[in-house]
Amino acid sequence: MAGEANADCLFCKIIAGEVPATVVRETDTTYAFRDINPQAPTHVLVIPKAHYPDAATLAAAEPQITADLLREAGVVAAEEKLESYRVVFNTGSGAGQTVFHAHAHLLGGRGMQWPPG
Ligand code: AMP
Ligand code: ZN
Repeated sequence: MAGEANADCLFCKIIAGEVPATVVRETDTTYAFRDINPQAPTHVLVIPKAHYPDAATLAAAEPQITADLLREAGVVAAEEKLESYRVVFNTGSGAGQTVFHAHAHLLGGRGMQWPPG
């Protein structure tokens, strides 16, 4: 069924506590934890507890959870005292997506270039 945990999904395993992670925040619908390979002083992944392969699929199926996710990214940024930050949804392998469970990268704590690479 849509949104159900996927036994082969790394992020579903993190939510289930089967793979360890440094958890930053948790709500009924979202989970936020530090990226294992940080690309900035703050690099937190904010994910829905429901499994959807990417952000657009999540947004089509679960608009409220998508809003929760974006709000949580802002709450984490505030807790990390970030005045400026970037929220990135890599979508598709050509754009660098490697884990096919929707996730926002929250990046901050250093200067950012535009356009991104
Ligand atoms: P993406 O490449 O956009 O799909 O992002 C996946 C992210 O998950 C990468 O930034 C990885 O560094 C991160 N990652 C992979 N495995 C883990 C893990 N066990 N704990 C935390 N972050 C992870
Ligand atoms: Zn998953």
